[in-house]
Amino acid sequence: MIHYTCDRCKRNIDTTCQTRYVVKIEVQTAHEDCSPDFDDDVDHLSELHQVLEGLTDDEIDDAQSDTCLSGDYDLCPECHKQYLKNPLGRDALLPLGFSNN
Ligand SMILES: [Zn+2]
Repeated sequence: MIHYTCDRCKRNIDTTCQTRYVVKIEVQTAHEDCSPDFDDDVDHLSELHQVLEGLTDDEIDDAQSDTCLSGDYDLCPECHKQYLKNPLGRDALLPLGFSNN
């Protein structure tokens, strides 16, 4: 039997009586400033293909390690509920935005 642990509160998730939720997080750099020129679609696609073929998995990992994050996280039902309310962890920042100036 596989035992799951909630990645948020570290409690065990008993899948026989609890639902296990999986959050898939993927953070990538948005390259809006270098958006490709689509004037010539055919040439662009072949260039892109060459770029993709030239990159190994290791090179991709190195380039993205500082700015990108991806992973699957197990959540218990309670943490799933909390996560949906506040997926970006914004609650801690709210008091700063409501100072009495
Ligand atoms: Zn939890």
